[in-house]
Amino acid sequence: MATAIHIERVPPPDLHLPLSPNTVNVRIIDTTTSMLCKADYFLSPTIGNLHELYCNAFAFLVENPRTGQKLVFDLGVRKDWENLATPMVERLLAQGFRINVEKGVSEILQEEHVALEDIDAIIWSHWHFDHIGDPSTFPETTSLVVGPGTLAAKLPPWPENLASTLTASDIRGREVREISSAEFTLKIGRFRALDYFNDGSFYLLDVPGHAIGHICGLARTTENSFILMGADTCHHGGQYRPSPYVPLPESIKPHPRGDSVTAGPNETCPCSIFEELHPNPAEYRTQQFYSIRVREDGGSVAFNVQDAKDSIAGLQEFDAADNVLVVCAHDASLKGIIDVFPQYANAWKDGEWKEKGRWRFLGDWEIPDHKV
Ligand SMILES: [Zn+2]
Repeated sequence: MATAIHIERVPPPDLHLPLSPNTVNVRIIDTTTSMLCKADYFLSPTIGNLHELYCNAFAFLVENPRTGQKLVFDLGVRKDWENLATPMVERLLAQGFRINVEKGVSEILQEEHVALEDIDAIIWSHWHFDHIGDPSTFPETTSLVVGPGTLAAKLPPWPENLASTLTASDIRGREVREISSAEFTLKIGRFRALDYFNDGSFYLLDVPGHAIGHICGLARTTENSFILMGADTCHHGGQYRPSPYVPLPESIKPHPRGDSVTAGPNETCPCSIFEELHPNPAEYRTQQFYSIRVREDGGSVAFNVQDAKDSIAGLQEFDAADNVLVVCAHDASLKGIIDVFPQYANAWKDGEWKEKGRWRFLGDWEIPDHKV
């Protein structure tokens, strides 16, 4: 075990966040999606006893209070996921995914009296089954917005195109707007960006690598705070934390397993216990624990592994900013920390959600020789 050494925090690069007085109202939707899948489908190496990854799916309701426009960013998994394109269902079963979805996002919205007719657009971060939901449960007046290259890659839908994972009902009857690469004329952090409402309140970011057309949302929650809707840039907090900008502290309180039998709620966790779990123990306080898994045959969950790695590095720069809350779609460690729909998320900084959630992923592993 290393003795406690002070680690210098490397100053992160300036993100060049644009200035604007305009905000959007943001609500984080727990889509009621629960998935269990093999951790090594996404993550490398295997750490501790984490062989199975639990994934929820967050979506977002974004409202522009000046124009009245409303949009939904992502939809989680459709409730009747057995009605996904048949090859998709077969693949999920073959890969051992276990999926349960209690409600569709359209139901969740209606239960709280959000009229679906008022939703101007659904934005898909990307076309994977656990983000597209079931757009056919929204009126045809709700348009669908997708990232660059999605339509050429995925249309026509299955079964006309056996390689597509979309079905006709995902797009039928509604305007589908693909953002062109040339529309990303701004730069925020290392990502190309577009100003969605042209008022500085909500940006779409071109965050390549995970899938063709993978985009993120960046919502201005107060004049100088933001929520980054990270989608599938990462599937676990250990893929981007710690970083040279956000080193692991010497100890954490409350203990990341403070709700378990191994640690009491008021216990302090000495972070040296994570040293031997790290693939590179000498850097366990400044380098992320996980990389994107690349199989022996070169295959990976990422469409382009190098781009996906670069995008994770870009995400680390946002995560280093005190005024940006990163919410990746499957970050179950935020559950219980954040307020979800119908509550608003704009006051996340006052609620210290970032500080409370930052190291919770460390609680996913069985900690060896846990003794304080
Ligand atoms: Zn995905």
